[in-house]
Amino acid sequence: MLPARIERPLAVSKLSLESLLETAGDAAFRIDSNYRIFFCSQKARQAFGADAGLIGKLITDYLAPDDIPAFQAGLAEASESATTTRVNSRLQIGNSAQWYELQLTSCASDSNQLEFLILARDVSEQHATEERLRHMATHDVLTGLPNRSLLSDRLRMAIAQARRLGAGFAVLALDLDGFKKVNDALGHAVGDALLRVASVRFRDSLRNIDTLARVGGDEFIAVLPSAIDINELQMIARRMISTVQLPFEIDGHVLYVSTSIGAAIYPQHGDNEVKLLAHADTALYRAKETGKSRCVIYDFAKFDLPEHDVSMEAAMYDAVRNGEFRLYYQPIIEARTRKIVGFEALMRWMHPDLGSISPTQFIPMAEANGLINLLGGWALKAACVQIRHFQEVAGRPLYVSVNVSPRQFRNDQFLQVMDDAMKLSGLNGQQLLLEITEGILMSDPEHAEVLLAAIAKRDVRIAIDDFGTGYSSLSYLKRFPIAALKIDRAFIKDLPVSVKDAAICNVVMSLASHLNLTTIAEGVENDQQLDFLSKQGCAMIQGFLTGRPLPPEEVLQVLQTGVLPPVSAVAEGARAL
Ligand SMILES: [Mg+2]
Repeated sequence: MLPARIERPLAVSKLSLESLLETAGDAAFRIDSNYRIFFCSQKARQAFGADAGLIGKLITDYLAPDDIPAFQAGLAEASESATTTRVNSRLQIGNSAQWYELQLTSCASDSNQLEFLILARDVSEQHATEERLRHMATHDVLTGLPNRSLLSDRLRMAIAQARRLGAGFAVLALDLDGFKKVNDALGHAVGDALLRVASVRFRDSLRNIDTLARVGGDEFIAVLPSAIDINELQMIARRMISTVQLPFEIDGHVLYVSTSIGAAIYPQHGDNEVKLLAHADTALYRAKETGKSRCVIYDFAKFDLPEHDVSMEAAMYDAVRNGEFRLYYQPIIEARTRKIVGFEALMRWMHPDLGSISPTQFIPMAEANGLINLLGGWALKAACVQIRHFQEVAGRPLYVSVNVSPRQFRNDQFLQVMDDAMKLSGLNGQQLLLEITEGILMSDPEHAEVLLAAIAKRDVRIAIDDFGTGYSSLSYLKRFPIAALKIDRAFIKDLPVSVKDAAICNVVMSLASHLNLTTIAEGVENDQQLDFLSKQGCAMIQGFLTGRPLPPEEVLQVLQTGVLPPVSAVAEGARAL
């Protein structure tokens, strides 16, 4: 309740005030200190309907209940400060609530009682526009789902709530297996329609309290508050998986896709947004690698990935900006002639304070946070341009071997990046060798088939890196256009003494010769190994014996003088990208 009496002169007569109010705003009211209306303008009567019978009613009866406290505070302030205050409130008109800006002014009645003038301006359209803009900034246009920015808010809220309650929650990362194929074959319009329908199905299989966001292409993230029981989590995931397995009828096409899901649980798999998303993403990759259409829950012990280091991740972004990443080049030698025929480009991170950071540390991180696409694209272009320079100095053609990571291989832009690298450097296809692992081929063979065919069409060659250490399912050698096998150092290091390793190398080389594949042995460290491999028909070798990875300026010296710098005693820390 507001004070009933105030000492304030009345500036205008009652009559002239009310005639003024008739023309003011979209509606005008006079109320007493008990909020009771004793005057309303003609426009107010029209707005509220002629029979509204406003006089004698409480203005608060027409306000949305949520807005009443702010309205009362506005009146109190107007009365105390003797100035006009403004509040935005919803006025209940018929069955709908509309937004008004209310100008509140206190004054004294003839009998020196406190009363208020309320000038109302209809701001419902402006409010709707603001609401639309807010929605657009926080939602995905295609599916209407929350976007990454709103997801980030919801995740932070979930973390704060979980901390308060000492409870947990789950984060799911999911995407559509086979989506790219639909997009490529039937066009973006069909792809977009598929995403819209799939997002509705996902949404419907979640609970009301869950958040589903679309964070890119066919990538979605779900936040499930309080769902930390593994059985409950698996049940929700199964519902999502099975809802997508039903055929989609779009534009006269009947489409079949599936979904793979990776889950991370707060707090055991991460106590912040970055860690939770990274670990859910890692689990998603594992789900795809191990058969798709399934849900995998993150597991520190099994996934054997370095702990996601947020400060290191921030440093990586800086490093890209500051040019701290460099490429080193390890010579690849023809076993028969011992001449340099090419180089493998290997990435190094020279941190200004920490010194050289091992690729085994930063590559998995870049793979998890997606930075690998940027780094890998840069490496591919820089290596091609550099090799062009090397061969000008050497006066003979050379080739460059570049490692391609799983995430790069899955990226839609990969082919474009490769084409740009070729164009920029003027290399021909034969001078570029892309190193991929067996895992890449096995995780999505349909995608691999399309992409490798496009790569082979450009004469660019593909090598299987670390051959023999992965799945060793040889069927892919027949299915895909593979040009070379890189025999893993694990089989080389005990040669020629180890009978088993010698047998494995013989089999690999015999297989390669029958399939017309080039062999490159990695990690060759002494002459006995080189002699053995050369006799068995291994075409090329790479290792400390014939040159450690060198910065470009040292490679230029080698090419000019033909002399390799002495190998230091430092162990070969350079694992491939
Ligand atoms: Mg490699």
